[in-house]
Amino acid sequence: MELHADSALLLVDIQRDFLPTGPQAVPRGDEIVGPASELAAGFSSHGLGVVLARDWHPANHSSFRDQGGPYLPHCIQDTHGAEFADDLEIPEDAWIISKGVDPHEDARSAFAGTDLAQRLRADGIRTLFIAGLSTDRSVKQTVLDGLAEGFEMVLIANACRGSSGQASTNAAAVEEMLRKGARVASTGAVQDALDSYAATA
Ligand code: ZN
Repeated sequence: MELHADSALLLVDIQRDFLPTGPQAVPRGDEIVGPASELAAGFSSHGLGVVLARDWHPANHSSFRDQGGPYLPHCIQDTHGAEFADDLEIPEDAWIISKGVDPHEDARSAFAGTDLAQRLRADGIRTLFIAGLSTDRSVKQTVLDGLAEGFEMVLIANACRGSSGQASTNAAAVEEMLRKGARVASTGAVQDALDSYAATA
């Protein structure tokens, strides 16, 4: 595992409504807030990009039950539930990417309906290290879209949690990402790579 100047960190949906007390609770989703903060601090302190993607729905979003969708209302723009997790430490220069803004599109991926790919290319970024919620939904969709856009995608698996909390669902999602060309790393391996990068940069 190596990091280069064209690497960036992408954190997905680490928002209040996806934490265990929220309407779209991801089991043990709170466990990744600390590791995600450490990763963000590590990337930022080495001059590497940090991107936070957030679900940012209008109140009439088509994924909500009262609109015929599968989910309870969540991450409605400018509400408390749409805020990033309280303990998530966000570097000052982080990019915020809002997704799911179109009421008619259930965009789980950070690339869907956003300018993320263009901004990454404009910044010369080729490799994305990704962590967040949930492994089998927004994270997976973002990884697959990122690969299709030509980016190298590295899943930081232990800094993600699955929507059902079931290991088999998680494993199937990771398997699919690997099959499509993603790589998998751990927070420890990424921290080691950050240390090596600092020594050579
Ligand atoms: Zn959503």
